[in-house]
Amino acid sequence: MDEMERLIESSQLVDENIIENSLRPRTLADFIGQDKLKGNLKIFIDAAIKRKEALDHTLFYAPPGLGKTTLSHIIAKEMGGSFRMTSGPVLKKVGDLAAILTSLSEGDVFFIDEIHRMNHLVEESLYAVMEDFKLDIIIGQGPSARTYPLPIPRFTLVGATTRAGLLSSPLRDRFGIIGNLDFYNLKELIMIVKRSALIMNLEIDDDAAEEIAKRSRGTPRIVNRLLKRVRDFAEISGGKVTCQVASKALDALEVDNAGLDKMDRLLLETMIEKFAGGPVGVDTLAVAISEESDTITDVYEPYLIQSGFIVRTSRGRVVTEAGYRHVGAQIPKNFQKEFL
Ligand code: ADP
Repeated sequence: MDEMERLIESSQLVDENIIENSLRPRTLADFIGQDKLKGNLKIFIDAAIKRKEALDHTLFYAPPGLGKTTLSHIIAKEMGGSFRMTSGPVLKKVGDLAAILTSLSEGDVFFIDEIHRMNHLVEESLYAVMEDFKLDIIIGQGPSARTYPLPIPRFTLVGATTRAGLLSSPLRDRFGIIGNLDFYNLKELIMIVKRSALIMNLEIDDDAAEEIAKRSRGTPRIVNRLLKRVRDFAEISGGKVTCQVASKALDALEVDNAGLDKMDRLLLETMIEKFAGGPVGVDTLAVAISEESDTITDVYEPYLIQSGFIVRTSRGRVVTEAGYRHVGAQIPKNFQKEFL
């Protein structure tokens, strides 16, 4: 890539980031869906504010793109604190953690994405921080080593992970609030499409909004991604997003009418063609489609299960009749219903 292309590419990235930030809801009232979780958070936040305390440490678990980071930003804003963000794999040493913790003020939110991927020494030193707001710093080595407890301001740790079960129980037990985000329903997704379109200054028909919502895998991040691409198609055909423009753009992106993309369909087809519809273990499947097992479990599978195309059994993953039908495959005569 030459210098010019790189510049263009990086300026496009900046553009996308600006849009991404402007689309993020800023308050609980602006955050669409997840009503139960939102209701609980509101009570916990109001109570903490009344007691003039930091909110309890909070863990969010959900597949990517459902709003974990957004909610963490909102907590900081509602609590009147600043927001600091990092991710599990970035915290390699206790010193990395110390650098951030010592820069926090009372009531701040410290957000750790992919908290299940922290180094175990960092994780262990986080226990005392979460419980007693002190970080044990060890100075020296061997018999002369001394532990100095470093006081940390009362802050709120917000952790995000794709599955609660990935966390060790000592870490999970130290969160006072644990919240799960579900895939969004069609009505909520339509509201998200319309909200984002308004912010992007985009005129959109109701049936076009519904078409985009239907194909976005129940995920707001995908709504926004599809909408940005649909906008490109709309720009060259008059500006307005009609259902026809939306369908054309989504077909070009190879997102089908159930919201599955190329990779989802490859997964289903591979299970059917190479493993007779299952049961097949996730590691075997990962090798067959050259993808990481974790990506299959965290990114592809939850939506395929939610849509009823595959089920997870104790012996592995199995394609359902709806899954066969969706990719236009013949349902075998001896279809093994006992797995389902
Ligand atoms: P996660 O941290 O779970 O991967 P994010 O919080 O980064 O997901 O959300 C991805 C994008 O989706 C955000 O930029 C935001 O614009 C949008 N988004 C998420 N949740 C909502 C919601 N409830 N209403 C409207 N937009 C949302």
